Amino acid sequence: EVRVRFAPSPTGHLHIGGARQALFNYLFARHHNGKFIVRIEDTDQARNIEDATDKLMQSLKWLGLDWDESIENGGPYAPYRSSERFGIYEKYLKQLIEEKKAYYCYMTTEELEAEREAQVARGEMPMYSGRDRDLTREQQQAYEEQGIQPVVRFRVPDDEDSVVIDDVIRGEVSFDTDGIGDFVIARSDGVPTYNFAVVIDDYLMKISHVIRGEEHLSNAPRQALLYNAYGLEQPRFAHAPLILNEDRQKMSKRDETIMQFVEQYRDSGYLPEALLNFLALLGWSPGSEEEIFTMDELIEKFSLDRVSKAPAVFDKDKLAWVNNRYMKDADPERLTDLVIPHLQKADQLDENYTNEDREWLKKLVEIYQEQMHYAEEFVELTSLFFQSTISYEGDARTVLSDDHVPEVMASFSEQLNNVETFEAPEIKKAIKATQKETGHKGKQLFMPIRAAVTGQTHGPELPQAIALLGKETVQARLEEARH
Ligand code: GLU
Repeated sequence: EVRVRFAPSPTGHLHIGGARQALFNYLFARHHNGKFIVRIEDTDQARNIEDATDKLMQSLKWLGLDWDESIENGGPYAPYRSSERFGIYEKYLKQLIEEKKAYYCYMTTEELEAEREAQVARGEMPMYSGRDRDLTREQQQAYEEQGIQPVVRFRVPDDEDSVVIDDVIRGEVSFDTDGIGDFVIARSDGVPTYNFAVVIDDYLMKISHVIRGEEHLSNAPRQALLYNAYGLEQPRFAHAPLILNEDRQKMSKRDETIMQFVEQYRDSGYLPEALLNFLALLGWSPGSEEEIFTMDELIEKFSLDRVSKAPAVFDKDKLAWVNNRYMKDADPERLTDLVIPHLQKADQLDENYTNEDREWLKKLVEIYQEQMHYAEEFVELTSLFFQSTISYEGDARTVLSDDHVPEVMASFSEQLNNVETFEAPEIKKAIKATQKETGHKGKQLFMPIRAAVTGQTHGPELPQAIALLGKETVQARLEEARH
């Protein structure tokens, strides 16, 4: 049975890389009618952030993922939070120590540091030397009498030259055991490290495939050695490629030039299904040129053999493009809900807006849906609807400087005075009438009107825009453009 997990550490918001990892696991599980588990890995207590777990779960839900087992809904292998599993780890830790596959190490931070410096000075790769591998009970007691609390280290076997990971995505990857020092599996306070807890949890939770980012590939040999030490079968590892930023640098949480977290995309007014669609294509491809997929299509098409080894580049323009594709087809009511908080923040909409305001706004959304990339952008796109005076773009000024403009303005202004209702069909008729009266048509007609009322030479459907601007504003702008 396919059983996969997403195992975030509650150290912050849901990162783009984490979201992609969750999604790949989810798609793989659903494709194979398997189980998707969300487990919280909070053994590194110093790095845990309060509330981070709740926020991670919320972000996953917002993306549209659901799970079969988790801290929220439990499951047959509960608990699903490492910090509630210390009793379980203890038992497994003891076993390794008894079998001499792990041992207590009493080296202090200062001693480790000195050892490292000496190695570096000799031009060697810094690595724990194994000083405490074979201490006698007496030697251990002597350290303990000095008050030193030992850590537990795993004894990397001397008789195995290499560990091979048969990675679903990367093929066989071999690691020299000489390059792996005896690593810490439990800290001096007894709390297990990630590499240890993850193995015990994946084993006990019957995880069949470990799908995660390439940054964890170097952990895989340590985990494989632990499986071997217990005589357990390894899960299949699948390390998805790194995600690079547009400068082809590894995306790092510290990079502030690019939004890194799912919450930021939510707060800027991206649609979850668009973000999800985009994330699926970060390292996976369906083998066709198609780029827009529903969740069901992704589930049907997803397979690990189509996940690439080559790094994926996070292209934010492409994300904006994908989001725009979804926005074009989205329900205007939904988009209206999305733009409202942004307009309020920009003081373009009252906290207590009326139903009428909302109806008007929905129409505005409808004429900008084609253009909008994300909800926050709507504020800028539509600012000409909210300001009493607008600034004219260079192109618009050029258009308005033409000799025939005052005539068109005067005629259109008069035609508008005659419309029965200030709505798009009537306004269209008024434009037609202006054409008849002035003899100007096409660009000669539309461009000056557009430039005069919007300050721009590009934009949404003109009659609709004029209707939404309202008679007074439009007349004032036409008047201004005449002079
Ligand atoms: N807790 C680890 C992380 O957040 C999970 C690594 C794994 O999937 O094994 O990166």
